[in-house]
Amino acid sequence: MEFGWTPEQEDYRRRVREALDELLPDDWDEVYVPQSYASDLQVDFSREFCAKLAERGLLVPHWPREFGGQETPDWNHFILGEEMKGAGEPRGAQYMNVNWIGPTLMRYGSAEQKERHVKGIAGGKVIWCQGFSEPNAGTDLAALRTRAEREGDHYVVNGSKIWTSYARRADWCFLLTRTGPGKKDITILLVPMDTPGISVTSYPGVIKFGHLNEVYFTDVRVPVENRVGAEGQAWEIVSHALAFERVGVPRYHTGLDALDLLVAQLKREGRWDDDPVVRARAGRLVAQFESARMLTYLVVDQRVKRMAPTTDSNLARVVALAAVNEMLDLIAEYTPDALAGGDLLLEDYYRINIPAGITGGTNEIQMDLVAQRGLGLPRG
Ligand SMILES: Cc1cc2nc3c(=O)[nH]c(=O)nc-3n(C[C@H](O)[C@H](O)[C@H](O)COP(=O)(O)OP(=O)(O)OC[C@H]3O[C@@H](n4cnc5c(N)ncnc54)[C@H](O)[C@@H]3O)c2cc1C
Repeated sequence: MEFGWTPEQEDYRRRVREALDELLPDDWDEVYVPQSYASDLQVDFSREFCAKLAERGLLVPHWPREFGGQETPDWNHFILGEEMKGAGEPRGAQYMNVNWIGPTLMRYGSAEQKERHVKGIAGGKVIWCQGFSEPNAGTDLAALRTRAEREGDHYVVNGSKIWTSYARRADWCFLLTRTGPGKKDITILLVPMDTPGISVTSYPGVIKFGHLNEVYFTDVRVPVENRVGAEGQAWEIVSHALAFERVGVPRYHTGLDALDLLVAQLKREGRWDDDPVVRARAGRLVAQFESARMLTYLVVDQRVKRMAPTTDSNLARVVALAAVNEMLDLIAEYTPDALAGGDLLLEDYYRINIPAGITGGTNEIQMDLVAQRGLGLPRG
């Protein structure tokens, strides 16, 4: 089995690294990264940064040519993700555009939506937010209550969303709405965030600013042509979209970077050589992150070969999350000063990963899916 990269892939990675060197400001690590990729500062920066990546043909190389890509294999998408996450995610909110909003609209969007939104995303200047979760509907999306009622050629939307990352700066919302009383009566609308009747309230939080937003919709009028697919098709579309999101964040890559920082600090402080326990835990962690990497690559390989999605993507996420949790424990036990501003990059890693087992589908649900669909076990 050959795990090496092809010369084209190596070249792509080199070009991405060059772009990062040239395009990130000198105070990137000190000023931007500690504010987090969801902060207003980084999200605003991403409009400029992603547009330049797009001009260099680096933002969506794996997309079809008609949508601004070069039809390279999906591997480039993962190389891009590894390099961007390793640098503190200068794409800001736009990582989501590339991971799942663009691909979902390519598959389910109308011709007009493809022309406008997919091409817009490929240009690197548009910020989207994801309006799924509500105060009483997170995992259980069937419980969502934000209503969209048809009035002629518009829907009228009323309700609220919570945890809507990037909502303060977003141009568009990929919104889940209820269009009928049944569990499956959920419909996707693409909503411009400057539509009258939308307001956003933001709260700071331990994982830094930019994620904890509440979005209120009061008699918001959305043209029917902004609906994605048919009424009630949201379930199918969302499961497709989330299959992309599960392995969208290369946690093995950022985890190994954080481990390097921790080990370097322990060595500087003379606490590495004489502590066999921390050395053994660090060694085990490398193995865990590498397992997550291999599982992720397996999923990418399946995608490159156009195979149907399997629970391997859920498994990749579960394995990555186990490693992330162990990494958080190591930081808290061995370098607690990092969490009090000692090492900004380690602190940032810690805070961003506190909710890693919640965002994009909780860990418990991933394990349920592996058990039921992957292993064929009965429901508990
Ligand atoms: C940093 C961050 C950013 C986010 N960004 C967004 C965003 O941009 N847009 C958006 O829409 N949402 C966003 N979310 C919300 C996120 O998607 C939800 O938090 C997540 O879906 C879980 O929903 P919940 O918080 O309501 O928890 P619940 O669904 O109430 O779950 C609570 C606990 O119960 C467990 N549980 C629930 N049901 C089951 C079950 N059937 N079997 C076993 N265990 C179960 C869960 O695993 C979890 O541990 C974000 C969340 C975070 C933390």
